[in-house]
Amino acid sequence: MPGLGRLADQANRARNGDRVYYINNVHLNYTNICVNSCRFCAYNRKNALEPGAFFLSVEQVLAKARAGWREGVREFHIVGGCHPDAPLEYYEEMLSALAGEYPGVHLQAFTAVEVEHLAAKAGLTVAETLTRLKACGLGSLPGGGGEIFNPAVRNKICPKKISGERFLEVMRTAHSLGIPTNVTMLFGHVESRADRVDHLLGVRALQDETGGFNSFIPLLFHPENTEFGHISKTGGLEALKTFAVSRLVLDNFDHIKAFWIMLGLPLTQMALFFGADDVNGTVHEEKITHEAGAGTPQYLPAGKLVRLIREAGRTPVERDTLYRPVSVDGRRRETR
Ligand code: SF4
Repeated sequence: MPGLGRLADQANRARNGDRVYYINNVHLNYTNICVNSCRFCAYNRKNALEPGAFFLSVEQVLAKARAGWREGVREFHIVGGCHPDAPLEYYEEMLSALAGEYPGVHLQAFTAVEVEHLAAKAGLTVAETLTRLKACGLGSLPGGGGEIFNPAVRNKICPKKISGERFLEVMRTAHSLGIPTNVTMLFGHVESRADRVDHLLGVRALQDETGGFNSFIPLLFHPENTEFGHISKTGGLEALKTFAVSRLVLDNFDHIKAFWIMLGLPLTQMALFFGADDVNGTVHEEKITHEAGAGTPQYLPAGKLVRLIREAGRTPVERDTLYRPVSVDGRRRETR
């Protein structure tokens, strides 16, 4: 193992021992219609007339939740495009309906980018918007939309999206309201290694200030079906080094997540030796990365994640969204 990997592995084991986390969750994507048209995004459609465009009613979101439901699900992970017309009430009704039907399930919903968008549409501040969503059952924000903070890179890959500074400001507001979040970094497109480090330092500074981040998620870019289709996909070693550097720079984060959907299963397993301590979840019907050509399945039963972790010589820990253990190596603990 290269020296960088060894150092990251040591840093991870000092925090997490040999535990590797996963969650039993379901992803719900409510729309792919988005005003932003990010150039790296294969998922979005500009309007309802484009082939493949969809916008689910609250009843259809509930139907999806019921279809994905299995005993033991702890989290609904809900993200979508920045829809041009959906009012704040739509998001409130969605959360209230899910919270009413699944009271024990954590609702991790709406990236900072979506929150900013629907606050602007409603003519409210981000704090007012988050307060209303929290009252309807919002438990935490996912980490998407971070991409790379450097404005020059952002201008090339997602010129219409909120700035990195604004993204962090929305996160800061969420943390101040007692809403924890994750945070991501999309790497392997037009950014430099220096841009990645700059991004990590921005994230680290906010974590020092608020302590509100649960995990950091380096997302490996999939170029297929995007405007960057000519870019070769980043190799495994560079991806693993990025995980290692993330683990070492973010010494105020407990968890670094290797999202198997983006990485594929072999690289996810390797990432556990380069600083990662979480393989995310069972997922169920992921659309966003698959539109960009991910060859991974859309759902992995918990048993397969457990096997992947055990094969790496680690102890699988099923967790809830807030990293409270549900079961350790198959032995259940009650967290609700
Ligand atoms: S990445 Fe998100 S914000 Fe950008 S176009 Fe895709 S769905 Fe919209």
